[in-house]
Amino acid sequence: MKLSERMKCHLEAVKTGFAALRKPPLTLRYPDEYEVLEGFRGPPVLKMDVCLGCSLCAQICPARAIKMYRLPGFRTPRPGIDYTRCIFCGFCVDICPGGALEHANVGDVVFEKLEEAVLTPLEWASFRPRPAAEKHGRPVRSVVDEEVGLRYESAAGGSGSTHGSSV
Ligand code: SF4
Ligand code: SF4
Repeated sequence: MKLSERMKCHLEAVKTGFAALRKPPLTLRYPDEYEVLEGFRGPPVLKMDVCLGCSLCAQICPARAIKMYRLPGFRTPRPGIDYTRCIFCGFCVDICPGGALEHANVGDVVFEKLEEAVLTPLEWASFRPRPAAEKHGRPVRSVVDEEVGLRYESAAGGSGSTHGSSV
């Protein structure tokens, strides 16, 4: 390749770099912002009042994260979960005949101690995961934008675009 052609290629590369500098950041400013993940397959949560006690969730779980417990006042056993084992595959949600399991739309659940992630049926039934960044960050929602690719909008209602990114 001639020197002039090499120089041209270098200039093109520099031009591309400067163009990227003018674009909004590619990534979310986590934890100052966190994304509201609609339809996200997060941790499964239990609705005890519609659980049939069939044990199918425990049987299908490939990670052995679900264990059945005998509880006073219930004719059939009820499931508890060990979130340290869960791989969020969703098999338990899919197979549940009572519609008692569903995914929480949360991608950054935090437990401060390992024991906190192991829940009995009653604990599981009252556990509703919240985003760890929720305390300090603000919720945003990603939307496809024809000009910039991906754009993040406030999900708290109201205040419009925060920043966008190219895809
Ligand atoms: S999501 Fe998958 S790994 Fe987690 S409890 Fe359900 S079946 Fe088990
Ligand atoms: S599969 Fe559903 S109905 Fe059956 S024990 Fe599990 S949560 Fe309850």
